[in-house]
This record gives sequence, structure tokens and C-alpha cells, in this order.
Amino acid sequence: MASKVILVTGASGLVGSAVQKVALEEHDVGDKWVFVSSKDANLESEAETMALFEKHKPTHVIHLAAMVGGLFRNLKFNLDFFRVNMRINDNVLHCCFKYNVKKCVSCLSTSMFPAKTIYPVDETMMHQGVPHESEYGFAFSKLMIDVMNNCYHRQHNCNFTSVILSNVFGPHDNFNLEDGHVIPGLINKAYHSKRDNLPFVIWGTGSPRRQFIYSLDLARLFMWVLREYDEISPIILTVDEEDEVSVKDVAEMVIEAIGFQGEVIYDTSKSDGQFRRTVNNAKLRKYLPDFKFTPTKQAIKETVDWFIENYDVVNK
Ligand code: NAP
Ligand code: GDP
Repeated sequence: MASKVILVTGASGLVGSAVQKVALEEHDVGDKWVFVSSKDANLESEAETMALFEKHKPTHVIHLAAMVGGLFRNLKFNLDFFRVNMRINDNVLHCCFKYNVKKCVSCLSTSMFPAKTIYPVDETMMHQGVPHESEYGFAFSKLMIDVMNNCYHRQHNCNFTSVILSNVFGPHDNFNLEDGHVIPGLINKAYHSKRDNLPFVIWGTGSPRRQFIYSLDLARLFMWVLREYDEISPIILTVDEEDEVSVKDVAEMVIEAIGFQGEVIYDTSKSDGQFRRTVNNAKLRKYLPDFKFTPTKQAIKETVDWFIENYDVVNK
């Protein structure tokens, strides 16, 4: 019999695809992995979520499913981000409790840190102020996961924890221009600008700064969190502070990876969003001082190659 039954929600998405790839590379561990998407259950529905847990009886859960999007989707749907994610998270965590799940790892986001703060921020600062207005609804839904994890621990001694993610990118990302994050959006735009001999338009000023993490690095860290990390309080999983880059920096990496040589325009009528969210990953570094992140330039090149190879599927 498998030693663990690990249910991964949101397994068809960016992070879930990377977790699947890394999990399937593990040999002889003896765990049973169950990867699900919205096709298996709509986690906004309590009944469907319960049926999913009843069917698979997981001992461990990696909870990735969420309404997700970049700055521009968040600006349009702040309320939906809050309501949808609150419903999903309440259903999943409650089923984890009802079905005696031994450990659940959920995802938070660096967008939930206070907008007015001193940088770099760390795990101890997440409830000290109100998040930036651009991703307000999404950010509060993430803060509430930590509140729920603490309440389940205090009242029922549950081992539900969370990881705090910065801007993730990689294969299987959402390359949709209106909905997705900046790196997939830039890859999509640069590809079409090169193909159609058009200017490459970057939204905003290009000055905002982010710590980007490659989905495959993140998936490796997820394996460690699942098996080794033993705190209820969250841990930041991202690159070191000195690896923070600007939107302009990543746009230049995308231009190089695509081989675009035309005109570059910054459309400053578009929002910049939050200027910075610099986090300190000292807690992660204390546990894993030697973990090596893929250099952003290399990871962007790998993502561009994946995008080109999978162009028909991504753009169908
Ligand atoms: P993603 O690519 O958009 O994937 C979202 C996943 O959630 C998909 O598998 C989707 O299933 C599933 N899902 C959405 N609504 C659902 C519902 N009602 N019922 C069941 N499943 C549902 O997202 P991601 O980027 O991998 O994000 C994974 C986690 O990391 C999320 O919790 C997100 O908030 C967090 N995070 C991501 C970033 C980032 O930059 N991407 C940054 C910080 C935190 P379908 O494919 O079937 O729709
Ligand atoms: P955030 O990191 O949560 O703010 O979300 P995004 O990944 O959407 O990044 C937003 C930042 O990238 C803002 O400064 C945008 O102005 C800038 N940006 C530049 N071009 C694009 C693009 O094509 N798509 C997106 N989503 N953002 C872009």
C-alpha cells in the first residue's frame, strides 16, 4: 500500500504541471499521487469537494487551485478573486479536516504583504497592514488561508501550512495577454511582434521590480516542504533579494530569447501596479542554504522554447 496519498489541486496549471513533472521523476518513494483540475471537481462547490476527498481519501494535500491572474485581471475582478478563492479555500481546508489529512500545503502570495512597509519584508510582517489596492481581493483571500491554518491548528491540532510565492513563470503558464502575468504576456507579445514585424509593446514604465521564480525550481521546493517543513507558519519560497529584477530587465531577456530586433515601446498609459514587493528569503536559506535557483535568463529561454514548441496548443 502507498505510504502517502498526495492530492494535488490545480494540477493542470503552471505550478501544478511543474509539481507533476518533478513528482513523476521521483523513484521508489512509494507515494500515490493524485493530480486534479476543475474537470475533476469544482472546488467552489462544497459537495463536489467532499466527493473528491471521499473518492481519493488523501493523506496529504498540495492545494494549488485558485482563481489566478496578472495585474490587469486583478484590476478588473478584485471582488471575484476574493469570493472565488475564499470559497475554494474554505471547502478544501474543511475537507482536509473532515478527512483527517495529515498535512496540507497551500499557496499564499507576496502581493498580500502590506503596501506601506519597510523592505525587504519577511514572513513575520504579513498581517501588519493592508495590501496594495491593485490585487486587494486576491491578497486578502491569501491572508485568510494563514488565518484558517492557525485556527484549524488551535482548535483541532491540524497540520495545515502554506508557502508564500512571488511571481512564478515557466512552461504551461497562462500566456493570455489580458489575464496572465508579465513574463508569459511579454513572451506572447514579443513572439507575435517578431513574426508580424510589429513594435513590441511593454505595458507601464518597466520600472517595477519583482523576484521571479521558475516553476520547476518551485516544484522542487514544494517536495521539500511536503516532506520536511514542519511549521504551521508560512515560508517564503523565492529567489534571493539580489536576484530581484525590473520589468524592463525581463523584457530584455525575452527580446533576446525570442530574437526580436524591432522597435520597443513602453505604453505608460497602462498601470505599473505595485512598484516593489521585495522579500527576504532568509528563512528558506536557513533550511536550504545550498539550493540553486535556475538563473532567470536561462529559465526565460527554456520557457520561450516551450512556448514555441507548444504554440498551437497554447494559442488554440
Ligand atoms: P494557474 O496556472 O492559473 O492554475 C490554476 C489551477 O487551479 C488550474 O489547475 C485550474 O484548473 C484550477 N482551478 C481554478 N479554479 C478551480 C475551481 N473552481 N475548482 C477546481 N480547480 C480550479 O495557477 P498557478 O499559477 O499554477 O497558481 C497556483 C497557486 O500558486 C495558486 O494558489 C496561486 O494563487 C499561487 N500563486 C501563483 C503565482 C503566479 O505568479 N502564478 C504567484 C503567487 C501565488 P483548470 O485548469 O481545470 O481550470
Ligand atoms: P504582479 O507581479 O502581480 O503585479 O503582476 P504581473 O505579473 O501582471 O506584472 C505586472 C507588471 O508588469 C506591471 O508593472 C505591468 O505594467 C508590467 N507589464 C508589462 N507588460 C506586461 C504584460 O504584457 N502583461 C502583464 N500582465 N504585465 C505587464
